[in-house]
Amino acid sequence: MAKTVYDRCIFFLVDGAREDVMREMTEAGELPALRRYVLDRGDYRKAVTSFPSTTGPAHVPFLTGCTPGSCNLPGIRWFDRSQPNGLTHFRQARSYVGPGGLYIDQDLKDEVHTIFEYFERPAGVFSFVNRGLGIFENRTLLTRGWYWLYAHYSGQWQAVDDAAWRYIDRAVDQGADFLSVVFPAVDEYSHYTDPFSDATLNAYREFDRGLGRLAERLQRQDRLDSTLFVISSDHGLTSTHTHFELWSFFDELGFNTLYYPRILRNGCDAATMVSGNGMAHIYLKKGDSWEERPSYEEIRTLGETDPIEALLGQEAIDLVAAVQDDSVIVCGRRGISEIRETPEGIAYRVIEGQDPFGYGGIPAEASDEQLLSATFDTDYPDAPYQLLRVLGSPRSGDLIVSARKGYDLRYRYEHPEHKSTHGSLHRDHMHVPLMMNTEIAADHVRTVDLFPAMLNLTGRLVEGTIDGRDSVTAASRAVA
Ligand SMILES: [Zn+2]
Repeated sequence: MAKTVYDRCIFFLVDGAREDVMREMTEAGELPALRRYVLDRGDYRKAVTSFPSTTGPAHVPFLTGCTPGSCNLPGIRWFDRSQPNGLTHFRQARSYVGPGGLYIDQDLKDEVHTIFEYFERPAGVFSFVNRGLGIFENRTLLTRGWYWLYAHYSGQWQAVDDAAWRYIDRAVDQGADFLSVVFPAVDEYSHYTDPFSDATLNAYREFDRGLGRLAERLQRQDRLDSTLFVISSDHGLTSTHTHFELWSFFDELGFNTLYYPRILRNGCDAATMVSGNGMAHIYLKKGDSWEERPSYEEIRTLGETDPIEALLGQEAIDLVAAVQDDSVIVCGRRGISEIRETPEGIAYRVIEGQDPFGYGGIPAEASDEQLLSATFDTDYPDAPYQLLRVLGSPRSGDLIVSARKGYDLRYRYEHPEHKSTHGSLHRDHMHVPLMMNTEIAADHVRTVDLFPAMLNLTGRLVEGTIDGRDSVTAASRAVA
């Protein structure tokens, strides 16, 4: 347990901030407020986000201590196989993009508590999850939709970040003890320009200026030292050179495929639900109903040709995962591996060819912390743990697809065109920055660990079972 107990915590989610960009800009002196008010008093880590590495599902771990799979929010789009076939697939299709976002709080698994429930005066600004916030505590309940609509059509995403700072000032003045704030500008400018464009880099600088103004204000009120700052991100982003239309590829394989936005269709026997747009859940109808999930071996016999082989034949597809009995099977061009949960942690072995992740030399069985350390600086950090968690959700696809860097999985219905991508298992999407104005104990941190850390650092104890561990205040994680 840390010695300092903070009176309040402000969690800043700079949506889509790349770890290397934020670190290099700080080192170059371009983010002076972060340097002065956070790093000089605290610590920096490269952390690992949750899969799918996408806006929405990857926000949830910070606020619940549970991975998207454990929260039963496995993607920004997913297919509800528990709903009966109606005249159309409308009731089975879920997307949190746009008005569908209203379903998030009710879709979040009942037993999961949000961090808002632990505080007396919590506040959320542009938050994805709002369970535990009263109507006045969700500061942007009525305005978020308007800001998003305005920014989407005008391209002025900086105006939304600017508004966030005004909401923070008001909430702090009114005595908020926990604030969660989402800053969308870096993510949106990345999507519509590039992760390294001037517009995107300027959004990082504007964030820093806002933080500087807030810190000075808190200092004048003599409240700076009693305020815990946590700054992180939900995913990185990479430039996109090619769009691969996943649904039409499934139609070519002989399926009748459901996809967004065309959900008012009927008689489909496959559904492709894309997140980010570098990952997708794929659902395949087995026999006459959607109720039972086909296994990995059964999937290979569906359609006119083995869909897994067909996917791996496409340049755009990097990895495909499915479930067989109690194991997750991962297929790549190099080979096939198996991930299994055991009483001691996670067992991992290559079952055909070479390791699809290209790991080389990781333990055959280890704790999830040891596997995190062993895979942290590879191309696929923490992938075994992350795939087990997301495929553990009954709402997860029968197949999960992770796109190759440079590609995404949606084309025709994405306006304006997405020029960068996130969502995949690749390190450029999975690594995120973590900055705190306090010491960070562990070398390797998951974003799901921030929930218990923020509670402990404000003198609160976690209730119930969560996925995260307080690796921030606790002793270092074991190294494999
Ligand atoms: Zn995001």
